[in-house]
Amino acid sequence: MSDQSIQSRYRVVILGGGIHGVGTLHDLASRGWRDVLLIEKGAIGSGTSSKSTKLIHGGLRYLEHIRDFGLVAEGLRERKLLMELAPDLVHPLPFLFPVLKKGGMPRFMIKTGLSLYDFLAGKHGLQKHTFVNNQDAIREAPPLNTDVFRSFYKFYDGQTDDLALTTRVANSAISLGAQVLENTFVERIEPVANGFLIHRQGHPEPLSCRFIINATGPWAHELLHRSKIEPEFIGINNKGSHIIVRDLGLKVGVFLQSPEDGRIFFVLPWKDTTLIGTTEDQFDGPIDSLETNKNDVSYILEHTNRYFRAPLTEKDILATFSGLRWLAKDKTAGLSDTSRSYRISEFKSGDGVMYTIYGGKLTAYRALSEVIGDEICKAFGDEAQSQTHLQKFWSNTGPIHHVSDPILRFKSVG
Ligand SMILES: Cc1cc2nc3c(=O)[nH]c(=O)nc-3n(C[C@H](O)[C@H](O)[C@H](O)COP(=O)(O)OP(=O)(O)OC[C@H]3O[C@@H](n4cnc5c(N)ncnc54)[C@H](O)[C@@H]3O)c2cc1C
Repeated sequence: MSDQSIQSRYRVVILGGGIHGVGTLHDLASRGWRDVLLIEKGAIGSGTSSKSTKLIHGGLRYLEHIRDFGLVAEGLRERKLLMELAPDLVHPLPFLFPVLKKGGMPRFMIKTGLSLYDFLAGKHGLQKHTFVNNQDAIREAPPLNTDVFRSFYKFYDGQTDDLALTTRVANSAISLGAQVLENTFVERIEPVANGFLIHRQGHPEPLSCRFIINATGPWAHELLHRSKIEPEFIGINNKGSHIIVRDLGLKVGVFLQSPEDGRIFFVLPWKDTTLIGTTEDQFDGPIDSLETNKNDVSYILEHTNRYFRAPLTEKDILATFSGLRWLAKDKTAGLSDTSRSYRISEFKSGDGVMYTIYGGKLTAYRALSEVIGDEICKAFGDEAQSQTHLQKFWSNTGPIHHVSDPILRFKSVG
């Protein structure tokens, strides 16, 4: 979109074109709102929303904490809905969950977790989990070394192309009249009596608006600090890295567990390649300096090779990518109290509000966007309802495009 078509005042400006930014844009556009603008510093989806594990899932591992059961149930509901809304982008994928001969989660615990997962999915469920012996498992996941496995369970989840999904949602919003400005960096936000001024790099005239949705993900606190606004929560960035190797012939995803730290990681078939990850380490550096390093690669190779017949080496790696899980922690809570659930903080300025989004999942972006859309509509006395759950509000075409080749994508996006 050209800068000439930009108005000087909007009801709502969304900062950040990841899944949460485009999701809230689509939500408001589906309610008939036209004067909503999204500003993205790079290309749509160039942040975390193209660096995920690409699962559309409830999150089996979140069942460790009762407090996260609601999060899992929401993810399972949204999984089914996204499969209906974008069947070409979100498809079911069978997974193998191994029972190890030594260490790892005991069989009864895996079985209980999967039964609970099926139960929480209820009528939104895919196929229920089943038992699989080693011979059948190796047919579907040939690289596995069955010497280390007692047996397996098979269950179903969803897989997507995260960047294509983010692009699809952006184009759907644009087709409903919403506006998107890419390659525009927001330097700072200035609270004023009737809302906010938004200062863009290279543009002397600020934009004004009543509501801001700060969907800049891991960059959110950098923006708040530049704007001299004190964040309500402590923001924690957890780095997650993946490697892409040649197609190892997997017909299923495999759920693996590190026997030392109990961490779960995945080996997945993805677009004629195999995707493996992720690591999880706290990251305190400047966000734009994030990259996959030697330690990340060694961790992934070492843990994967314990379960493979023929070990992978660095030479097998075609591309790597890293993203940041951006979580909110209450200023008084311990690190282990940090739920994977999303949080939204509010900063008021006169009759305006800035919402800052923390956490969240690709899978549940639509539900989160609806919550924010409801809040904003309430403030304007507008009773329009979100329509993003209806196919006719989605569009397959539009001005935003993405690189579909998985290797080219991560070589160029970094
Ligand atoms: C390693 C990893 C694996 C994951 N796997 C999964 C998974 O399998 N399934 C799942 O459901 N979820 C997964 N997630 C979670 C999911 O990917 C994220 O919750 C989601 O992508 C976050 O989207 P976002 O829009 O909040 O942030 P982002 O996608 O990071 O978007 C923020 C945008 O803001 C822009 N921006 C920043 N600063 C400015 C500025 N000053 N001006 C203008 N624009 C700015 C950035 O360029 C960026 O595009 C994973 C996350 C990670 C890190």
